[in-house]
Amino acid sequence: MPELPEVETVRKGLAKQLLSETIANVDLRRDGLRFPFPKGLKRALEGRRILKIDRRAKYLLIRFNDGTTLLSHLGMTGKFSLYSADEVPREFGKHDHVILTMDNGGVAVYTDHRRFGYMDLIPSGGEQENRHLRKLGCEPLSEDFDAKLLCEKLRGKKSPIKTALLDQRVVAGLGNIYVCEILFRSGISPRRISSTVSGKSMKVTKRAERLVEETKHVLVEAIQAGGSTISDFATVDGDMGYFAHSFQVYGREGEMCHNPNCSGVISRISQSGRSTFFCPKCQR
Ligand SMILES: [Zn+2]
Repeated sequence: MPELPEVETVRKGLAKQLLSETIANVDLRRDGLRFPFPKGLKRALEGRRILKIDRRAKYLLIRFNDGTTLLSHLGMTGKFSLYSADEVPREFGKHDHVILTMDNGGVAVYTDHRRFGYMDLIPSGGEQENRHLRKLGCEPLSEDFDAKLLCEKLRGKKSPIKTALLDQRVVAGLGNIYVCEILFRSGISPRRISSTVSGKSMKVTKRAERLVEETKHVLVEAIQAGGSTISDFATVDGDMGYFAHSFQVYGREGEMCHNPNCSGVISRISQSGRSTFFCPKCQR
């Protein structure tokens, strides 16, 4: 499942190829994905020029010259492939659901095997009220995400820290794999009660500082590596990312802890229905 670093990789790839291009034709090859396609999607995009491609949490935001934004969530298996005019395939596959043809003859194909992805159309100025975006917390890589903010969000919370970090209202865009990695590198147990990370007083805690620091490190490393390869995710160029092999704790149940000062063995537990991998010895 594409997580924030993978979505960021896709964003960069799309931006590199599609900025300033105008969409000549939109071919919707079914009625929808996880949700029906928004009404008037084809008409809203045809003839529009792509000004900017942003990311918010795990959403791609493709911004057009008339102020309209196309929101795209990749779900479990969504991906974009780009073809220049002379390499457009003669036929598309049955999982190719949206085909955007540019003025220059180039084509962007949205493929989604399991169809958990979705698209939405946001009118000019409508981002604050959009149902997918309005409740999102802070971007983890923004300057706003710091230990002070994290402590505010966690104070008084009785849920385990793992669950809190997956809550998109606390911090936006963190998924299961990276939360496991972040907690491992912070030396914090996924079972620790959130309010004990923030402490009771208004003072910022060392644990919260460490968590914020490691969150940024883990995400930046993953983005630099081009995203991971869990599931059949591929970058826009069709290259598979290569961060998966460097996960230190995720998927390593029964293996020795990667922390050089620790003789622990990685455990797997289930929290809120998701697998958590952690070292019971050095994560406290
Ligand atoms: Zn350990």
